[in-house]
Amino acid sequence: MYRLQDTVVVLTGASSGIGASIAEHLLKEGAKVCMGARRVEKLAEVKDAATAKYSESPGTLIYKACDVTQRDSVCELVQEAEEKLGDVDVIINCAGVMYFTQMKNCIMDQWEQTIDVNCKGVLNGIGAVLPKMTARGKGKIITISSDAGLRQFQSLAVYCASKAFVETLSEITRRELVGTGVTLTTICPGDVKGTELIMKNTDDEAAGKIGVEIGKPVGEGFTREQLLDVDDVADAVIYAMTAPPHVAINTVLIEPRDQE
Ligand code: NDP
Repeated sequence: MYRLQDTVVVLTGASSGIGASIAEHLLKEGAKVCMGARRVEKLAEVKDAATAKYSESPGTLIYKACDVTQRDSVCELVQEAEEKLGDVDVIINCAGVMYFTQMKNCIMDQWEQTIDVNCKGVLNGIGAVLPKMTARGKGKIITISSDAGLRQFQSLAVYCASKAFVETLSEITRRELVGTGVTLTTICPGDVKGTELIMKNTDDEAAGKIGVEIGKPVGEGFTREQLLDVDDVADAVIYAMTAPPHVAINTVLIEPRDQE
């Protein structure tokens, strides 16, 4: 049984971590997916691995280079999906960056990139699909936000603010769109292990304050109950996509059992 057969999905941030897992889960469910990220060689690896695992799936994975900070680039990704797969039913905004920074250290390039990717990137995704979704009277916009959008964590002022932006944006847009058939979902994970999210951090002082070692993926030294897997987040996305048509999954807060 393929619950998402013939569902056309645009997925940003598919080249690693949570996005790569979502791509695999979508293929398992039979969806037709157009993946975007800047590193196309990694997108090719994601496609090959998922396709080998789910070779029987009626779904398909295609990919295209996309920089979510560039409006045209996101529009071109959506256009690729429309031309090769059909009308877009769902966009999943997964691309994101996270930098631990102490504000006094003023690493302004990282602040700016956080806003460009996490805020502007999501707006570019919404803008690229919304007019056609409202015209067709259906569509789902799913954004991988964070529990940091709902809570405040030290050393993450700009990141938390960027995810709070996503939460506020999604909630007000969701209310505006009631009755149009278009829904917005934010998925808010807690700490997820094994992704590349913190690999480019440089502020040792900020990372040190929360006990994270710069340059290493999160995972070592944590118990199973303290960190989520990428698959746990992908499961939440599939849950939001397979809910009955009269149900809107607005926000999913998913955290490790033993996260404080
Ligand atoms: P990764 O670093 O593994 O993945 C980030 C993805 O975003 C990559 O595919 C990367 O692709 C893409 N990306 C970054 N910048 C751009 C850009 N300018 N244009 C297009 N794509 C871009 O991290 P995660 O998988 O952990 O993160 C995915 C999402 O999950 C993020 O939004 C993050 O905030 C969120 N999240 C993660 C948590 C965690 O603990 N890991 C917890 C809560 C939320 P490329 O570099 O190839 O462009």
